[in-house]
Amino acid sequence: MRTMENPLTPEVLADPVALTRALVDIESVSLNEKAIADCVEEVLRVVPHLTTYRYGNTVMARTDLGRASRVVLAGHLDTVPLNNNFPSTLRGDLMYGCGTSDMKSGVAYALHLATSLPAPRYDVTYFFYEAEEIESRYNGLHLVAQAHPDWLEADFALLLEPTYGIVEAGCQGTMRAVVVTTGVRAHSARSWHGVNAVHGAGEVLRRLSTYQARRVTIDGCDYREGMNATRIHGGVAGNVVPDRCEIEVNYRFAPDRTPAEAEAHLREVFADYELTVTDCAAGALPGLEAAPAREFLAAVGAAPIGKLGWTDVARFAAMGIPALNFGPGDPNLAHHPDEHVEISKIRDGAATLHRWLAA
Ligand SMILES: [Zn+2]
Repeated sequence: MRTMENPLTPEVLADPVALTRALVDIESVSLNEKAIADCVEEVLRVVPHLTTYRYGNTVMARTDLGRASRVVLAGHLDTVPLNNNFPSTLRGDLMYGCGTSDMKSGVAYALHLATSLPAPRYDVTYFFYEAEEIESRYNGLHLVAQAHPDWLEADFALLLEPTYGIVEAGCQGTMRAVVVTTGVRAHSARSWHGVNAVHGAGEVLRRLSTYQARRVTIDGCDYREGMNATRIHGGVAGNVVPDRCEIEVNYRFAPDRTPAEAEAHLREVFADYELTVTDCAAGALPGLEAAPAREFLAAVGAAPIGKLGWTDVARFAAMGIPALNFGPGDPNLAHHPDEHVEISKIRDGAATLHRWLAA
């Protein structure tokens, strides 16, 4: 039963700044997206030029104008947990609150365009999804890619995650592995009977600390790799020479490497050690060649840079859809208690998207 009026009124939908604020003020911490998805679905359902679908708390609306190309504008509806930053507040040109940067300002772009642009130059799929901030198995983009891959068919996707108004292309891959050193257990009073596996970790750490990470330029975008120990675990007791030490390694690799190539490289670096890959996500190439991507870059008027962190553009890339990241928020403020967005940045980005889609 509805007990609340939908705050996404026509006046709010017409203004990306007011819309950002209204979206921030609907609390939607991951797994609690029903209220916001209801509000979004309700306003999309009544738009005559859109067909709207829902799967869980993911809402998709699309035009079917028979255009030559289709683009996806995508944003997640959820936020990380609140941190004394709800509801939103305004201070001069800054809007503070959970989700202002990551990424309700981006969601506002898509919702504003969906409801105000009846005849975009491409067919557009507006995609608002649940649970991006938590494990993959809840992720609305992942779930729809499994259940309704046809909903996501497109020539190009724009993910409206925070990039501070810069186009960030592709993303690096990430691989986690455990490197193991082994030894022989002994009493530490007669340590010469044993072989110390924790001491053996020294050579693994030396290789990591002297590792020369690659820098790769792909389509003009720089990617900078990194290989780091992120955790170390070893030891039996205060008087025992340990026989096992595990070093967890995280390898962030440029998108010209496949996961198989990244694993081969890790195994090359640690050729003489036991190594187990525990987790991997492929990167995504920059995706600048599709005609809508080139036209988008022309509307932005500035060169893209390489995305270093892993994002959902990789999910689009895995479906064969080139994707870019573009949003008004500052990615350094995402998940931060002082999270905020510059109101002028929201307006600039909205004008850019309008220039691109309305042309
Ligand atoms: Zn995000």
